[in-house]
Amino acid sequence: MKVLKFGGTSVGSPVRMKKLLDIINPNERQIVVLSAVSGTTNNLVEIGQAYLTGDKTKAAELIQILKKKYEIFINELFSNPGYLAQGQEVIDYHFALLSNLSNDLFTNIEEKLILAQGELISTTLYHIYLKEIGVPSVLLAALDFMKIDEDNEPIVDYITEHIEPLVNAHSDINLFITQGYICRNAFGEIDNLRRGGSDYTASLIGAAIRSEEVQIWTDIDGMHNNDPRIVNGTKPIAQLSFDEAAELAYFGAKILHPQSVFPAQKYKIPVRLLNTMDPKAPGTLITNDSEKDKIKSIAAKDGITAIKVQSSRMLLAHGFLRRLFEVFERYKTSIDLITTSEVAVSLTIDDTTYLDLIIQELNSFGSVDIDKDQTIVCVVGDFGAEKHGYAARVLEALKHIPLRMISYGGSDHNLSLLLNTADKVEALRSLHNRLF
Ligand code: ADP
Ligand code: ASP
Ligand code: MG
Repeated sequence: MKVLKFGGTSVGSPVRMKKLLDIINPNERQIVVLSAVSGTTNNLVEIGQAYLTGDKTKAAELIQILKKKYEIFINELFSNPGYLAQGQEVIDYHFALLSNLSNDLFTNIEEKLILAQGELISTTLYHIYLKEIGVPSVLLAALDFMKIDEDNEPIVDYITEHIEPLVNAHSDINLFITQGYICRNAFGEIDNLRRGGSDYTASLIGAAIRSEEVQIWTDIDGMHNNDPRIVNGTKPIAQLSFDEAAELAYFGAKILHPQSVFPAQKYKIPVRLLNTMDPKAPGTLITNDSEKDKIKSIAAKDGITAIKVQSSRMLLAHGFLRRLFEVFERYKTSIDLITTSEVAVSLTIDDTTYLDLIIQELNSFGSVDIDKDQTIVCVVGDFGAEKHGYAARVLEALKHIPLRMISYGGSDHNLSLLLNTADKVEALRSLHNRLF
């Protein structure tokens, strides 16, 4: 059974929604994961912010604007008045829920409830549309099987145990529709898999049901060899290994949620990145294999903070790095890049929630320097220790740009550099011109 995920733009208009059946084959058993209609999750974030700041008038305004959008949407989606009325009921229900929240009792539980409405609406409308045109389908509630633990880690065994009976109960139906992004947390509350999380849902369902293939349908013809939003002339990559795709997703290639590769990788489930606007395009296939001895792609991740700890006591001191890392562990802050010398360590973090407390503790190790507004540029490909020339080509391309850190050799397929965010665009363009 395949899993097909359609992102926001792929369900972004009634026309697009109707066109999904050019891609979905109703005669084949498959699970279809849908995102919210494009723009909706951003709108829901704004509504949540308005509630959080106590501005109920603004929240009500934003809710009305969004509701209008959906009323236009359903008028184009449905032709039959009976189904249109069902669509209107769905809209009324979800928007009443948004409107009836109170300012006084607004916590992040309510905020996550708001964020969940986009996927709940898109899947329900699509399910009703399929009924209207006579295509049998089952709407599966992701909140009944998609689960994360106390550390926000999805529990694949739980997902398997809960989704399989739901699917098996309908042996006569081919098409299962479900929500991306949303889940329940360890306390049973509505939660989500972070922005862009529908990719993660698809990969998790793929892993849970040991799917033959996961297809991520989006608005571009696969993973490109550089960020197409910044660099002109980028090209799709035909094949990537799971490791390469994971590095690119983690280091900023927005086409994939940062964690979405791992569940598929664990169960060796091929992942295809495909273009809804051009379904015949080959896209990108992600498997265990990859083209050897080649630079594949470049990605960049902003919002990075570099921390340098300088200490003469580091000289020959065993246990120093352990004590240093323990500080980050205590504050549940993960480290991306590390470079060391005998007298100093530099590392990067992207979550600065506990930065002040971390600095306070690090001060006992030596002098601490902080650089904000940094960007990690990550060059991905197959360049193991026996290969030569790759690092030189990368550094040659960046010789006019100040580099704060260089990390190479951590794996066989990643060379990462830290630079000022102000230099990112030039770095990506120069690398593109020199490497491809
Ligand atoms: P969806 O809504 O379908 O999940 P996203 O907007 O999350 O789509 O991801 C697709 C977008 O990712 C593309 O439109 C493109 O602008 C952006 N993107 C960034 N880096 C890359 C890359 N290396 N290859 C392809 N797309 C990329
Ligand atoms: N709708 C969610 C978002 O915009 C999840 C997704 O689209 O993948 O982040
Ligand atoms: Mg996405």
